[in-house]
Amino acid sequence: MSKATTVLVPGVSVTLPPAGNISFEIEQGQRFKMTQPEGEQVADLISFNRDDPRELLSMHGSRAVNLNWKLTKPHVLYSNRTREMWRIDEDLTGENYCGGGYCSEHLNMMRYGEKGKGAPTCQQNLEQAVRGYGMDRWNFNVDACFNVFMTVAYDADGKWEIREAKGKVGDYITMTALMPQIVAISNCPILFNACNNFKLKPLTLEILK
Ligand SMILES: [Zn+2]
Repeated sequence: MSKATTVLVPGVSVTLPPAGNISFEIEQGQRFKMTQPEGEQVADLISFNRDDPRELLSMHGSRAVNLNWKLTKPHVLYSNRTREMWRIDEDLTGENYCGGGYCSEHLNMMRYGEKGKGAPTCQQNLEQAVRGYGMDRWNFNVDACFNVFMTVAYDADGKWEIREAKGKVGDYITMTALMPQIVAISNCPILFNACNNFKLKPLTLEILK
């Protein structure tokens, strides 16, 4: 039995419902496609070297090698051992946040007060997604998270702010796995800020044939 929540069969797309989570495995050389059927929806993606999950995606490493903080096609994403994990092949939205991080209850409560208590979060989703591997939230960290389709402003005056998602209906990203990986994705459930434009929407996922 798979330790992942889902076995993705190449050529068969799967819908990740609003606020849902998923884990799956991908082989080296396979291409992964993620689509926003309704647009304006952010996905928090983490991934691990399947053969040694202590090696995981590093947004710091990816920025440092690419000398870029707005990674898109044709950038390569690197692990915490600075080895190649993903190559972005297509990116219709062209807007991904690469600073690391995901929403958590403690972060929501600090930013939005009591209403953050008990509200669903990406941290919780990601933790649920990797549980089948015997992993928990301490097996990953904010640096491992690629915020696909998320818009964050770095204004000249120093302001850092999550802004409205820009994904249009049907926009997608495709990425080639450059090592065998365990992938976990949270369909971001946050409604406290403009991240998902105040409405949660589905995503569709597929390993291409
Ligand atoms: Zn989130």
